[in-house]
Amino acid sequence: TPHSTGVPPARVQALLAREREAYVQRHPRCRALSDRAAPQLMFGVPLHWMNDWSTPFALQVAEARGATLTDVDGHTLADFCLGDTGAMFGHSPTPVAEALAAQAQRGLTTMLPNEDAAVVGELLAQRFGLPRWQFAMTATDANRFVLRWLRAATGRRVLLVFNGCYHGTVDDVFVDLVDGQPVQRASLLGQVHALTATTRVVEFNDLAALEAALAPGDVACVLAEPVMTNIGMVLPEPGFWAEAQRLIRRHGSLLVLDETHTLSSGPGGYGRAHGLQPDAVVVGKALGGGMPCAAYGFTAELAAQAEAAKRAAPPGHSGIGTTLTANLLAMAAMRPTLTQLMTPPVFEPMHALAGQLADGLRAAIAGHGLPWCVTQVGARVEFQFCPQPPRNGSQAEAAMDAPLEHALHLALLNRGVLITPFHNMMLVCPDTTPAQVQRLLGAFAEVLAELCRGET
Ligand code: PMP
Repeated sequence: TPHSTGVPPARVQALLAREREAYVQRHPRCRALSDRAAPQLMFGVPLHWMNDWSTPFALQVAEARGATLTDVDGHTLADFCLGDTGAMFGHSPTPVAEALAAQAQRGLTTMLPNEDAAVVGELLAQRFGLPRWQFAMTATDANRFVLRWLRAATGRRVLLVFNGCYHGTVDDVFVDLVDGQPVQRASLLGQVHALTATTRVVEFNDLAALEAALAPGDVACVLAEPVMTNIGMVLPEPGFWAEAQRLIRRHGSLLVLDETHTLSSGPGGYGRAHGLQPDAVVVGKALGGGMPCAAYGFTAELAAQAEAAKRAAPPGHSGIGTTLTANLLAMAAMRPTLTQLMTPPVFEPMHALAGQLADGLRAAIAGHGLPWCVTQVGARVEFQFCPQPPRNGSQAEAAMDAPLEHALHLALLNRGVLITPFHNMMLVCPDTTPAQVQRLLGAFAEVLAELCRGET
C-alpha cells in the first residue's frame, strides 16, 4: 500500500524551496568557506556524506559547546544532532576537555598502556557487566574486530543481522531483505566480496525467521542494536529479546549488542537497563565524550575462547587493531567520560527532558492530525512518518520520505534548531535546556502549521 505522510508533496516542495532560499540568504560566510574548500576537497567537504544534510551547502562550524553550536555566520543553534551521538554528553564536556588539555602535554600516542587503561577497563566492566575488554578508534572498527574474534572463537562463518540495521561501514552488515530475499546493498562502492554468502538477514521482531536463520547451526553471532535506531527507530516488542536470546543460545550462537546509539538508555546501555545478557557489547561515539574511541567487552567464557584462538593461530597479523587505537589521548578522554558523564545522575535529567520533548512533539503532531508517531529511547527521540511505531526495518523504511525530511530539517535549522540528518533523530545532552526544547517545539509547530495550512 502506498505510504502517505499526510502532507501534499507540492506543499513540501514549496517549503523546501523557501527554506533553501532563506538558508542561502542567511549563510554568506558558510558559502564562502564552502567555495574555498571546493577545489581541494572531493565533494567540497572532508567526508562526502557531510553533503547529505538538507542544506544547499555545508553549515560551517565556528564553535560547539554544550548543547549549542555557532556557525560562521554567527547563528546560534540548539543542537539536537550532537554529532549524531558523538557529543551525547555535550560538546567539549568540561571533564573531558580538561583531561585532554592535561594529557596533551604528556604524550598523545605511544602504542603502550598507562594507568588510564586499567581504570577504564574496570569502569567498563562495572557499567556493562562484562568482564573482558578491548578498544578500537571507532564503533565501526569495534564491530569489525568483534566479528573477527567471534568467527575465530566459534569456527563459524555466518553473521546474522536485522534488516535495515547499521553498524558503521562494516562490509558484512550491508545485506538487505528485498521481497524476502537477501540482497547485497547496491550503494556500496568497490565491494568485491559476495556478502550474502556469509551474512544472513531477517526482520527485527520476527522470532520465527530468527529461529529459521539460526537453525543450520552455522551462525557465529547475531549482531544487533537492542533497539534499531538507524532506520528511524524500531523498538523490540515485549518478550522479543527474552525469546531471541533463548534461541540464539540454543543454536550455539552468540549475541553482540551494539550499544553505540542505545547508550542513550543509561550508563550501561539498553541491555543493562533491560536485563539483557549479551555475549559481547560494542560501544563507540560518545564513549570518549567526542574523542574518537570505542570499546568492546566479552563474557569471561567468550574472552577465553578468543584468547585461545589467538594463541592457536600462527604468529603474525591478527587483522585486529590499528596503530593509534587506545592511544593516551583516547584513554584520557574515556576515563572522565565514564566517571563523570556516564552516570545515573547525569542521565536522569536527560531522560526527563527527552520525555518532555517527545510529549511536545506528539501534541504538535496530534494538533495537526498528522499520521506520524514519536518513539523515545532514553535521551533519544525520533519522529516517523507513520501512524504507529514500525515493527521492523521494512516498515520503518517505508515510512521515510526524503523530501519531507529535508524540508523539515532545513526549516528547523533556519529557525535555530539542528536535528540529525538521514532520519528524524533528536538527542538531549546534559547541557540541553528546557528553553532549547521549547525552541525546538516552537519551530516544529511553526513548520507543521506551514505544511498543513489550509489542508484541514
Ligand atoms: N553502530 C551503530 C549502532 C551506529 O549507529 C553507528 C554510526 N551511526 C556505528 C556503529 C558506527 O559508528 P562510527 O561511524 O563512529 O564508526
